[in-house]
Formats: sequence, structure tokens, C-alpha cells
Amino acid sequence: MKTMTCQQLGGPCDLAHHGATADDVIKAQDKHLKEVVAAGDEVHKPALKDMKARWRRPIAGMGWYRKAKQDFAALPEA
Ligand SMILES: [Zn+2]
Repeated sequence: MKTMTCQQLGGPCDLAHHGATADDVIKAQDKHLKEVVAAGDEVHKPALKDMKARWRRPIAGMGWYRKAKQDFAALPEA
């Protein structure tokens, strides 16, 4: 398991996501953004907008995924 924070994934807070793969933490971040924004959070709105834009435009979002996966791979195993 490795840990990446909301901030490491482009978000504004330091909530930690745990996962065995980069996809796990990316999905956890996606869920986190949706949940807090649905609960009325304003500071996560730009990050959620970015995330949605990446889902809609996978080619343009690819650079972000590659970076997130590299960052994840570079983390020490916890
Ligand atoms: Zn957050």
C-alpha cells in the first residue's frame, strides 16, 4: 500500500488516500472531490472541475495521469 494526499493529486487539502495502485488513489481522489463538493465545499471545486475535464478529454488528461502514476511509483512502500 502507498499513500498519496489530496494535495499530491492536485487538490487543496492533505487528506491521505491509500491504495495498492495509482488507479486506486486516483479513484479515491475522484470520490473525495465529489463527496466534499456535494457537501458544500468550495475550495475543492476547481480540482473537481479539472478531474471532470480529464474524464471528458482523456488524451488531454493523459499527461496528468502519467505524472500521478510516476509520483505514485516514486513513493516508498508503506
Ligand atoms: Zn481534499
